[in-house]
Amino acid sequence: MRIFINQVNNGLKIKTLILRYILIIVIMLIGLNYGNKVYGADENGNVVVVIDPGHGGLRGESDDGAINGNIVERHINMIVAKAMYEELSKYNGVKVYLTHDSEDVSMSLRARSEFAKSLNADFLFSIHFNASELHGKYGSEVWIPSIGSYYVAGYQFADIELNELSQMGLFIRGIKTRIGDDGDEYYGIIRENEWRGINAVIIEHCYVDNKEDRRYIVNENTENDNAENVNIENLEKFGKLDATAVAKYFGLKSTELGVDYSDYKKLDVVEPQERVYPDNTPPEKCSIYLKYIGNNSITFSVSAKDSDSYINYYSYSLDGGKTFSELKIWNDKRSSEDTIEVTLSDINVDIGNLIVRVYNRDDVSSDSNIIELNGIMKQKSDKTDSDNRSSEAKSFVKDNRNTFIGMALIVCGIIITFICMKKCRR
Ligand SMILES: [Zn+2]
Repeated sequence: MRIFINQVNNGLKIKTLILRYILIIVIMLIGLNYGNKVYGADENGNVVVVIDPGHGGLRGESDDGAINGNIVERHINMIVAKAMYEELSKYNGVKVYLTHDSEDVSMSLRARSEFAKSLNADFLFSIHFNASELHGKYGSEVWIPSIGSYYVAGYQFADIELNELSQMGLFIRGIKTRIGDDGDEYYGIIRENEWRGINAVIIEHCYVDNKEDRRYIVNENTENDNAENVNIENLEKFGKLDATAVAKYFGLKSTELGVDYSDYKKLDVVEPQERVYPDNTPPEKCSIYLKYIGNNSITFSVSAKDSDSYINYYSYSLDGGKTFSELKIWNDKRSSEDTIEVTLSDINVDIGNLIVRVYNRDDVSSDSNIIELNGIMKQKSDKTDSDNRSSEAKSFVKDNRNTFIGMALIVCGIIITFICMKKCRR
């Protein structure tokens, strides 16, 4: 009997325990859900956003940022940042601040971060434009922190931001991390904010020194670039898109604009357990295959693979790798492996050797095998001195088929002529 009671008691105990655990899990889940929605928030319950126009200070004396011709980065950063401020201020439940509101103000990265900390900011967005050493790169990218929840927040925002920027027609280079030699964040503004527990990203809208991107910054049909020639309308559009991305990230709504992003679904990003490093290894595959060679054109396929990230650009060389073409967009799928077909026309094919170079997300490149074009042209002229076409199975089959049809037509013609002649004789 006692044993029986004990068994009943044990059963009850287990049930109560299970119920308790379920209750704890439910409470934790509710907590997590709220945790996702409530940000640092000021005393009035507002989301606190700090916009940081990159660089600044008296011209030529301190930090101008990227310069190309008369385009100075700190000048255009300020235009974008102020437009972003204006637009984001139209949303409910958000308090927006600028780290500084004049391009002539010099401010250290630490001071910008301390300013954000003093406001208990939820996020700092650093506004920038890019330039590259060889002036070849183009497109938009967002630099994000490389650890834990900072990485998750950065990635989720960057995903929205780049989606907004792609609407302008800009090429999207990607979401990136960068680590310094000391193993900490490379970029000061990200490092300083991470130390202070603040989410921060760098938005590199596009390149000031590449013609693909310059058209977004400078007014078209102006011969000489100067600070006055910047396309204010476009730059303000950048700022508005930045603000929209922030509004979507925080699920804000605006009575004034008549938009509501409170149900906006952010990308699911798994929190990394270790620091997320950039892809410093070159693409593991880049191979080319000649499909067609004509008198002044070639068609070839390029197969490339980079399992750590994806391919952004390719360029080709017709002189065995001495000089390369400008960077071309690989595709917009950002898949780790793909094959594309390229046709080059109006080229002198009997001069050189074809090589293709592919670049991954972090601009690390790999070269393909070499195809000796002049060798192929020589082989062709040895084989036949009529039509200079050859190579590639497809065109070969097509040529053969055409020859066959031609031959058949000629035979038909002879037979008909023969029959006619016979009939005429009768
Ligand atoms: Zn910059």
